[in-house]
Amino acid sequence: MTATRGFDELLTKVIAALGLIISGNQKEKLLNYIQLILEGLKKQRLVGERSGAALIEKHLYDSLYPLTTWQIPRGSLLDLGTGVGLPGIPMKICLPEQALYLLDANKKKINFLRKVALELALQEVFFLPGRAEEWGRDPGCREQFDCVVSRAVARAAVLVELGLPLVKMGGFLLLYKGKQGPSEIKEAGPALQLCGGRLEKSWHYRIPTGEERTLFLIKKIGPTPAAYPRRSGVPQRKPLGS
Ligand code: SAH
Repeated sequence: MTATRGFDELLTKVIAALGLIISGNQKEKLLNYIQLILEGLKKQRLVGERSGAALIEKHLYDSLYPLTTWQIPRGSLLDLGTGVGLPGIPMKICLPEQALYLLDANKKKINFLRKVALELALQEVFFLPGRAEEWGRDPGCREQFDCVVSRAVARAAVLVELGLPLVKMGGFLLLYKGKQGPSEIKEAGPALQLCGGRLEKSWHYRIPTGEERTLFLIKKIGPTPAAYPRRSGVPQRKPLGS
């Protein structure tokens, strides 16, 4: 498969702006991934974003930003509500030693991701099709992951209830939020307390298009009670503390 050559320069700029150093092979994989999303878009309308340039400047930049500010613990990384693989796939390309778990309720997206992993020859990528509420109660997954990340899935209060049950004691939940992040994290206070989390750190930044983003790093400091996550749909309908 040939990479999207036209985007080569833009990707080089974005990686330089992030201050990351990646190999030619990693760059090729990122470009091929963009190409696969664009092809998937045409065929299945997988994501709303139509331009390859926006995919690089917005979604790749955002996905890789945490690598510039925080050392993701080595081990297992779960992307909750990964969609077409954001941020999980770009992170995995840049951190090949991580085992990556991709969780999404949408089967079509999981099938697309199986194809991506195969075409990019990514090792140690695993798929969790289904709802986070169900995986969070699965003994094979509960409190098993070193780090859970989630981007553009739900409000912070909801993500705390969905994400923390999957995080190992001492592990982390990393939430990507927009400029409304600070008010969302305030609203998530009761959920953090109930589910065993503590806000460790946050970062405020802008992506190259100028849009504001906030990242929240939550540490799991206590076990999550068996009552959480509640039944599918309940966390979204009635966020903890609301
Ligand atoms: N993280 C991606 C996708 C965001 S779209 C990105 O940044 O572009 C949100 C995705 O979350 C959808 O694919 C949807 O199927 C999934 N999702 C939402 N709630 C979920 C839940 N409770 N369990 C599993 N997946 C969920």
